[in-house]
Amino acid sequence: MTTPSSTSPEPTVKKASIASAMLPSILDLSRDRLTSTLIEMGEKKFRADQVWRSIYHETLGSFDEMSTLSKTFREKLKETYTFSALEQAMFLTSADKTTSKALYKLHDGELIETVLMRYETDGHRRNRKTACISTQAGCALGCTFCATGQQGFRRNLTVGEIVAQVIEMQRVARAEDEAQMAEGKRSKGDIQGVTNVVFMGMGEPLANYRNVIAAIRVLNDGQGLNIGARHITVSTVGLVPQILQLAEEELQINLAISLHAPDNATRSQTMPVNKRYPVEELIRACHKYADATGRRIFFEYVLLKEQNDSVEQAQKLGRLLNGLHCHVNLIPVNPTKEGPFERTDLTAAKDFQGGLKQYGIPSTVRMEKGIDINAGCGQLRERAIEILGA
Ligand code: SF4
Repeated sequence: MTTPSSTSPEPTVKKASIASAMLPSILDLSRDRLTSTLIEMGEKKFRADQVWRSIYHETLGSFDEMSTLSKTFREKLKETYTFSALEQAMFLTSADKTTSKALYKLHDGELIETVLMRYETDGHRRNRKTACISTQAGCALGCTFCATGQQGFRRNLTVGEIVAQVIEMQRVARAEDEAQMAEGKRSKGDIQGVTNVVFMGMGEPLANYRNVIAAIRVLNDGQGLNIGARHITVSTVGLVPQILQLAEEELQINLAISLHAPDNATRSQTMPVNKRYPVEELIRACHKYADATGRRIFFEYVLLKEQNDSVEQAQKLGRLLNGLHCHVNLIPVNPTKEGPFERTDLTAAKDFQGGLKQYGIPSTVRMEKGIDINAGCGQLRERAIEILGA
């Protein structure tokens, strides 16, 4: 694990507090459920719209800040619901300022991580800010290269706990945009906030299927956070039944598969899930998914030195993916303290790309951001336990 010597804890823009763990969180409600509940409480539908916009569009930090609502109504809401699901325990920004990582404490003491990655315009795409969010506290799937996998499973996150991570990052991202606007570096119409969301933090999203789908629908709502479906990516290690289920949801989101090896023998060494859903079965499900949705599938391939990074393995991967509408992201591994693997160097990564190209498979070498702040999955929690004894 790298040492974050160039970073320091920072306050968030608005730090929400957990009012009471006993009341349900208003963030757990779908828009329809919020509307019907408030109507049952004797309010008009437009009040529900106001509350929704206050939470998800304006990203206000408490019921008290909802000044368009009467005091009586705000008090009623406070008696019925909690507001935030997260308490910030740590916030670090990388030396190059491109990546920030937050550690949040949940009402029961569990710790989860959220990352905000900032990308400059690269000629093809505009500036973007991507929130990488967690869906479980810990993870049961035990991938050997993953810090979260080495910590074990704690529990699924609620819809509110998933969505709240994006709200927190939206506040940070918007405050930065507004600061740039005040300095004349950005125009008023260019306040973007979070532009993309990836479900690639702690946990396996498809193992928390129902809450993840409900959270996507909240994030996607045009009068709230308004994150376009094509700007949302769900990453899975390959839970076949859920991939087939997802194909039927009529969501235009991106699906990313953490593949990491081209054959069962290699994959099973680092990803125990492969024994349940072997590579051939997984790729069959991917074909069905691509056929049903018309969407390209992204394959994540963490390069592990002398484990899965040879040119022969690249060619094998090329043959496996031949005929599938897909793109491969090659990621030199983020080493963990307990993990046995080393980082593949850039030359070897380029050679691997060459092997894929022989089979017409497009790929990108994606250097990880935020190495100096432990931005790999589960690494900040690991460090916090050392520092805080959390
Ligand atoms: S890589 Fe993902 S699925 Fe595997 S142990 Fe880590 S969090 Fe779980």
